[in-house]
Amino acid sequence: MLCWFTFMWKRKLAHLEASTSLHLFLWQPYHMILSQFPLSNLSKNHELFHPFTPGKFAGNVNTLSQSKTQVHDLRFGSKKSQFKLGNKDCVKASSSALLELVPEIKKENLDFELPMYDPSRGLVVDLVVVGGGPSGLAVAQQVSEAGLTVCSIDPSPKLIWPNNYGVWVDEFEAMDLLDCLDTTWSSAVVYIDEKSTKNLNRPYARVNRKQLKTKMLQKCIANGVKFHQAKVIKVIHEESKSLLICNDGVTIQATLVLDATGFSRSLVQYDKPYNPGYQVAYGILAEVEEHPFDVDKMLFMDWRDSHLKNNLEIKERNSKIPTFLYAMPFSSTRIFLEETSLVARPGLKFEDIQERMVCRLKHLGIKVKSIEEDERCVIPMGGPLPVLPQRVLGIGGTAGMVHPSTGYMVARTLAAAPIVAKSIIRYLNNEKAAFGDDLSAGIWRELWPIERRRQREFFCFGMDILLKLDLEGTRRFFDAFFDLEPRYWHGFLSSRLFLPELVTFGLSLFAHANNTCRVEIMAKGTLPLATMIGNLVQDRD
Ligand SMILES: Cc1cc2nc3c(=O)[nH]c(=O)nc-3n(C[C@H](O)[C@H](O)[C@H](O)COP(=O)(O)OP(=O)(O)OC[C@H]3O[C@@H](n4cnc5c(N)ncnc54)[C@H](O)[C@@H]3O)c2cc1C
Repeated sequence: MLCWFTFMWKRKLAHLEASTSLHLFLWQPYHMILSQFPLSNLSKNHELFHPFTPGKFAGNVNTLSQSKTQVHDLRFGSKKSQFKLGNKDCVKASSSALLELVPEIKKENLDFELPMYDPSRGLVVDLVVVGGGPSGLAVAQQVSEAGLTVCSIDPSPKLIWPNNYGVWVDEFEAMDLLDCLDTTWSSAVVYIDEKSTKNLNRPYARVNRKQLKTKMLQKCIANGVKFHQAKVIKVIHEESKSLLICNDGVTIQATLVLDATGFSRSLVQYDKPYNPGYQVAYGILAEVEEHPFDVDKMLFMDWRDSHLKNNLEIKERNSKIPTFLYAMPFSSTRIFLEETSLVARPGLKFEDIQERMVCRLKHLGIKVKSIEEDERCVIPMGGPLPVLPQRVLGIGGTAGMVHPSTGYMVARTLAAAPIVAKSIIRYLNNEKAAFGDDLSAGIWRELWPIERRRQREFFCFGMDILLKLDLEGTRRFFDAFFDLEPRYWHGFLSSRLFLPELVTFGLSLFAHANNTCRVEIMAKGTLPLATMIGNLVQDRD
């Protein structure tokens, strides 16, 4: 590990003399990854190494950078093309053109002051929330509303979240969060292949990250939450309290600790080998000359592959492990485009995905004029749940809450936050309540009750089938899936179906599938089905 760090550091120094744009392009992913993982974890969590990039990290390479540079001329395709970057010199590089367009990272912070935690007072707070993503802030806000003392620790507490979140409008409506959506589309579309299209009559939206974070932070501030800007590197448990050691030397004491550190899984422990599938995607928010999509519909999945007809090598790769285009058209010239591998083990490489995206955009006649933001998305899907129960509580990415068949999580985790918060409040307000391990055990039970564990098991079964499907199989699967009654596919995507309904869902999917798809599901699904049944039988309350 140390060798790797030394190598990366030397690499950074070696590029200091190079143009800023090229330097940042080369360094950015590693820099962002380093900021996500405490050193102490690196030696501890060997599973953080990503299976598809040996020697690099797994977990959240969830960087989204923002580019100021305007691009006047762009050629896609050739790996060694020359690109014009605004007024700067042309840059020759060995990677995809799309990357070359993203030379600078501009982090945007929220413009208000946060009340900071005062370490000199040595108070034991009721709850420390480690991680200020959507999951952590949602719980901090709700626990503090009940008058309990809460401290939120994050290395960048005012930073606007980087990920471009998409949700179904009904999910946010149910949580009274419609004011935190910035663009909505009345329907969505799926291209199964060149001939078959599914129109999904379900409104979809992009989350207004700034508004959602502002709203949560303001409620936290009003409720008296204190903030500490640092990374937690270690937690030490005593009988009735825990000590959180931060990388700035500060120690914070708390009755309960909630790990909300996303996919970096900083504090929550796992005791089984970590073997998730990976959703990998590369997205750009771009200004384009034009695009062929209807601005009233979001493009949920485009599985067409006609853009690869002249590139048999990529076509072959795509037919084995397919990628699709996900797009949010904001206007006729502004669009978020994301080439996505739904799930693969090991995950696809970014270069592969970018290469496919370049071919697709060229084929669709999309000429990119400038890139406002780009997003490298790696979402671990499925895999084992954390040790249940354990002293440190968890929510969100760190607690196995991502949907194992879709990679979606933000709506699910925001809906779970009140359950966790109520449970924390109830246990902490009850004078006779247990403390230490027993206190945490009760709260974990409410976060992952048996019916949620069974639901997750079914979703993992779904993921195991998807992992085995090639392009044709995937198309057949989604052809049948989106023909289901809306309550089934809505419920499946939004984690609203539980085991009995999921069985009906499975039978209904089988009934809608064509014969080839049925044979395929039986052939490829038998082993995962047996594994799921085995796990369901073993897992009892
Ligand atoms: C690029 C990307 C796009 C996604 N898009 C969608 C989408 O469209 N829809 C959807 O439903 N889901 C999406 N997801 C999945 C999921 O909803 C997100 O990952 C979501 O951000 C997870 O929320 P979280 O609060 O659990 O973790 P995060 O948002 O990752 O927040 C974790 C926070 O913890 C901090 N942290 C980490 N380690 C420490 C430490 N040791 N000490 C203190 N703080 C620490 C981090 O700095 C970060 O601020 C996406 C994921 C990615 C990576």
